[in-house]
Amino acid sequence: MNGFGSWLRQLRFKMNMGLRRFMEGRYGNDKLNSFILGTAMVLVILAVFIRNPLVNLIIHAVAYGLMFWSIFRSLSRNTYKRYQENRKFLQIHDRLKDREHRYFDCPKCRQMVRVPRGKGKIAITCPRCREKFVRKS
Ligand SMILES: [Zn+2]
Repeated sequence: MNGFGSWLRQLRFKMNMGLRRFMEGRYGNDKLNSFILGTAMVLVILAVFIRNPLVNLIIHAVAYGLMFWSIFRSLSRNTYKRYQENRKFLQIHDRLKDREHRYFDCPKCRQMVRVPRGKGKIAITCPRCREKFVRKS
């Protein structure tokens, strides 16, 4: 029994080492990946209630596509690009969650400008290029 226990421990150790070596230099998991996987799960659950075979097939195809995408991302060696994707995702996520402000892109230089919400029509001056534009907040 003791021998088996230590054998199991050793096996687990070897598997951990193997996994670690395999993941070395690869991107791994992040918030965007969790979101992609979560969406895939929701789609699979949703498909249970859909009787139309074609729609059902499409939903499954999209769900599997999302799963492969998240696997691809976590195994990717282009960590910089994956990091940038996640950063962009978090930015959009924050914008959607922020009920106090509205976000606009400067029409001239694309700089993002944040203004308080619910102030009516306001003149906004871009902090980067000084371009003035009017938006409803
Ligand atoms: Zn600007």
